[in-house]
Amino acid sequence: MAMKGRVFSGMRPSGKLHIGNWLGALQNWVALQNTYECIYAAVDIHALTTLGSQNDTSEIQDNVREMVIDWLAAGVDPNRSIIFVQSHVPEVLTLHTLLSMVTPLGWLMRVPTFKDRVRQMDETEETVSYGLVGYPVLQTADIVLYKADTVPVGEDQIPHIELAREIVRRFNNLFGQTFPEPQHKLTPTPLVLGLDGHQKMSKSLDNQVELGATPTETQARIKIAFTDPQRLRRTDPGRPEVCNIFTLHKFFNPKQTKLIASECTSAIRGCVDCKMELSDSINSALGEFREKRAEYEGRPEIVREILMDGGERASKIARETIAEVSDRMGLQLPRK
Ligand code: ADP
Repeated sequence: MAMKGRVFSGMRPSGKLHIGNWLGALQNWVALQNTYECIYAAVDIHALTTLGSQNDTSEIQDNVREMVIDWLAAGVDPNRSIIFVQSHVPEVLTLHTLLSMVTPLGWLMRVPTFKDRVRQMDETEETVSYGLVGYPVLQTADIVLYKADTVPVGEDQIPHIELAREIVRRFNNLFGQTFPEPQHKLTPTPLVLGLDGHQKMSKSLDNQVELGATPTETQARIKIAFTDPQRLRRTDPGRPEVCNIFTLHKFFNPKQTKLIASECTSAIRGCVDCKMELSDSINSALGEFREKRAEYEGRPEIVREILMDGGERASKIARETIAEVSDRMGLQLPRK
């Protein structure tokens, strides 16, 4: 079957993935393998852009392994897709530098995630690293090094993909048509809120439910989740439309949502039982995933081989792109 195009997406290795990563991106990664040529990277160089004052990089490799195990357990298939570690294909660093020559600083400073990160890290625009400012340029290099046209991501990433298109347009205008303009691709649940009920689910906010958690851990996490803040007593009617537990039911319990909503609004159902039911549904939806995860955890050599093989396949494409870019920009970069 003719493939529709080429997909690239990456995730920073911050350890085990959560439900937000899965509903927001990973489910598309798996589905797109049927119709696209897919390339997925553990973007370890991106992990260095938010180094704190401790400069602790000792966990990067473990985090890469844990994350890739999550991908494999979710159904990302190394026989169909290229799965690799960003730093194993250093051509991306060359392309990052070259693209940075055509990227106005103003574009980068206006990216909303940049301002958020600076705030989160207690930095100012004076102290923040050059690498963090250039994060979206590195992300553009990741995508266009493989000439990908489609990028499955969560909603938070849309501004970065828009910027990637601007950079590509500028490059193509200056040096001739070289790269396709990448388009983002969202899932039906592009923004999953965390257990606090109002911010995006994220490991850094500690409001996540890990995909690989045990059933008991899942239950304990869901138990602490915020529901409708106005529902103070068990006998008060709830408002499912403002409750994140209800939103999660929509995904994990799609056939029951009408019943759940009416039981909540009429106070027949209390939050404690409602959460218990959600934990059970999450645990049964993730049962197979967790079995597969445990198998890969016991076979780290398989994960290593998959990443080595993926790195070689990715390198071949990357070297061709760099040779073309070198010619277009009037350079004579060594050809490997
Ligand atoms: P990155 O820095 O690579 O975006 P994340 O772990 O934040 O690292 O995200 C990995 C992927 O999961 C991205 O495509 C992101 O958009 C998606 N994602 C992360 N958190 C959520 C969420 N709460 N809801 C929906 N999608 C999410």
